[in-house]
Amino acid sequence: MRILVVEDEQKVANALREGLQGERYDVVVERTGESAFFRLTTEQFDAVLLDLGLPGRDGLEILKAIRERGIKTPVLVLTARDSLQDRVLGLDTGADDYVIKPFAFTELVARIRALVRRGRAAESPHLVAADLEMNLITRKVARGGKPIELTVREFELLEYLLRHQGQVVSRESLARDVWKETARTTPLDNVIDVHIARLRRKVDADHGTKLIHTVRGVGFMLHEGEP
Ligand code: CA
Repeated sequence: MRILVVEDEQKVANALREGLQGERYDVVVERTGESAFFRLTTEQFDAVLLDLGLPGRDGLEILKAIRERGIKTPVLVLTARDSLQDRVLGLDTGADDYVIKPFAFTELVARIRALVRRGRAAESPHLVAADLEMNLITRKVARGGKPIELTVREFELLEYLLRHQGQVVSRESLARDVWKETARTTPLDNVIDVHIARLRRKVDADHGTKLIHTVRGVGFMLHEGEP
């Protein structure tokens, strides 16, 4: 279980890191909104603890930006003020829950557990991006209601891109998670590029709105509009 803690106060951040590691969570700490945003668009987390008062882009801006990108990672907002307005704003912006500082650590852990559970239960057998739909049970894919025939590998690749939509997916992560290549003895970059090209022809060729984008030097991103 991987948790991103976004907190600029060193003491609080350290306490959260130690406490959560003690609960066997894998913890990553970021101290600014910008660095948190970068993490969230490039890596996977099971939950985010997000302080609202951050230097630079504040917590609410980051929350809004990741939700606009379609990133659905559960977010627990940490707010210093018992302000109704802050809480309502946080929940409206796409937070899943909030705790008011100072909080009891046991309560925080219970909230995180509930959040991660709910996040998993809410997983639907459908993955959707714009008018592209994938049914994970029937294994059918359609765009604009028109069926798309995919090979098993193309289906897995598209599923991975859909699950990470709005995030940059590197060739390394595709090799590891889709091709299950643990040791990179044979570089798969060409194989991956060929599959991406085929997927593009099937998914995007007949449509004005392109969904599969190349992020130069990094990898790919499934996103409605430009990445
Ligand atoms: Ca703060």
